[in-house]
Amino acid sequence: MHAVETSAELRAALAAARAGGATVGFVPTMGALHAGHRSLLAAARRETGFVVASVFVNPLQFGPTEDLATYPRDRDGDLAVLEAHGVDLAFLPGEKEMWPAPPEVRVRVGALGERLEGARRPGHLDGVATVVAKLLHLVGPSRAYFGQKDAQQLAVVRRMVADLAFPNEIVVCPTVREPDGLAVSSRNAYLSAGERARAPVLYRALEAGRARWAAGERDPAAVERAAEEVLATAAGVDTEYVALVEPDGFGPVGRAEAGHVLAVAARLGRTRLIDNVILG
Ligand code: AMP
Repeated sequence: MHAVETSAELRAALAAARAGGATVGFVPTMGALHAGHRSLLAAARRETGFVVASVFVNPLQFGPTEDLATYPRDRDGDLAVLEAHGVDLAFLPGEKEMWPAPPEVRVRVGALGERLEGARRPGHLDGVATVVAKLLHLVGPSRAYFGQKDAQQLAVVRRMVADLAFPNEIVVCPTVREPDGLAVSSRNAYLSAGERARAPVLYRALEAGRARWAAGERDPAAVERAAEEVLATAAGVDTEYVALVEPDGFGPVGRAEAGHVLAVAARLGRTRLIDNVILG
């Protein structure tokens, strides 16, 4: 594996790969790599000839009171994971390399970027779209891999690629979970033992909502209520939202149908977790 820190080195390594006729697959990450990231890397390895992965904790997508400074970082561990998954080229830019100055021109997401996550984390999805746009330009992959875990981020990336004619195929990989159902996340490392024991309630709640739908319920509020009732049973879990939305715009739905996304965000102590399931 070749590891580089600058765009110039990245371009040079990619030019050599392309000259050899390889199809490029790309997995963007913020590092602290876990089983969710590994599933993306494995899919890219299976499906493309030259795999590029990036590790960059993007300051643009963190709010002023969020966890940018404490976000888990493990450069050596990440390099070992990337190497073990057969990544050809690792891109680990520093902040000054990616953003020598705060970018004057950014991607601004419309209503999709202001709902659910966007409402609780103003500017977050604009920051995601802006860094993903830059990374896709730098790497120029045929296929870029994203997780269903961050469903609204995935929707934003898909819309950006469609609306602005990016020539990249966006591939979605299913959410990887712990045996007790908790979605694997870098932020799970923040949980105390007690919080970790309570955290699977998010997935149990989503499953309850999905089961209510599978039993024939079509009223979105009733599906959401089934999830909320489960969350209400857990002490120390502060629910921010439970919402059934359509997967493209993340807007509310009139009737619950297969393909809709049931999404949740909750705080356990100081840790904010998100998760989602798809109906059907
Ligand atoms: P992050 O490093 O958190 O920015 O995530 C990088 C990529 O990994 C994103 O496309 C995430 O959606 C994806 N990802 C994170 N957690 C999981 C998970 N548990 N299962 C599948 N993909 C995930």
